[in-house]
Amino acid sequence: MLMRQGKFFLVFDIGGTSIRTGLYNEEHRRLERFRKTCTPNFMNREDASSEAIVEQMLGMLKQEADALCGECHLAGICAALPSPMAPDGTLWRMPTVLGPRDPGGFRLQDKLQDLWPDVPVAMLNDVSAAGYYRVAQGGRDFAIVTIGSGIGLKVFLDAKPRTGPNGRGGEIGHFSVHEPIAGDLACDCGGGLHLGAVASGRGTLRVARHMAAADPVAYGKSLAARLARDTCGCLSNEVLVAAFRDNDPWTVQVMTVSASHLAKALAFLHLSLGLEEIVLVGGFASACGDKYRELLAHLAGRYAWDTGQDWSAIIRTETQPDTVALEGAGYFMATRPVHRQCEAQHA
Ligand SMILES: [Zn+2]
Repeated sequence: MLMRQGKFFLVFDIGGTSIRTGLYNEEHRRLERFRKTCTPNFMNREDASSEAIVEQMLGMLKQEADALCGECHLAGICAALPSPMAPDGTLWRMPTVLGPRDPGGFRLQDKLQDLWPDVPVAMLNDVSAAGYYRVAQGGRDFAIVTIGSGIGLKVFLDAKPRTGPNGRGGEIGHFSVHEPIAGDLACDCGGGLHLGAVASGRGTLRVARHMAAADPVAYGKSLAARLARDTCGCLSNEVLVAAFRDNDPWTVQVMTVSASHLAKALAFLHLSLGLEEIVLVGGFASACGDKYRELLAHLAGRYAWDTGQDWSAIIRTETQPDTVALEGAGYFMATRPVHRQCEAQHA
């Protein structure tokens, strides 16, 4: 491994599905390289306790960092986590990783610091990290929405994420929605029919399976059914994305049912705060492409008072799903006041 000159930050983006690990060059303000691996979570470690999953995750962070950085001298470490975060760093809940059994209140700061005793460790919410990438490009007032394993939001005002005095803000993925076809759809958090349960990547798949079971004839004639038969034999996110991008009417209907709930939330956000920039990130949004952005913009326009705003210009997509939060976490480290270790202390 090359020993490089300059100041480097080790950055983690921990999502419900993937852990990304990057090395950020402070001088050049860019990510030098990154790795990606699967997150241990409540679905792939079905019998493990939350504590065991967290311990395994910490071990993986160390492993990934060692493989990426070698002997590189680190000036700091930032872990972006899929949890709202209290000012003291307490993680309120991590449903996309720990599922409904998550007892909440994990404190990882000390555990991370123990892994790297000589390097200052900071923590961020993962959506905030993605937002800092927009800040690095000059963004000041905007919302960043992630559509991946779950749905997350952070509103940035004056280039800072606004999450309230206890860091609970931005969790619209756990806002209750009403969906007539709901059936047994449930959110990863265990809290019932939340926005994330119907409109995230995992949620859209749940809706699709539900609609396929409710009307097998319509589903049977769809491109999605044909693609599913040709691949794994069942509906998957890959099948849905491919069929949606190919204009399969059944899949477009599924996506419209799912996305309409998110579009309502975005319309409410715009009407509440007047934000003129809503940035979509996340693996599912990115895989679905511009057609998904157009669908959301169209639906948001349907749910909001028309004062001449251009929804197609308001909603845009950040096109680097693998690196946006790593870049943002690196930028956060490069520009933060040294004494601040958690994002909530910015509020
Ligand atoms: Zn929830």
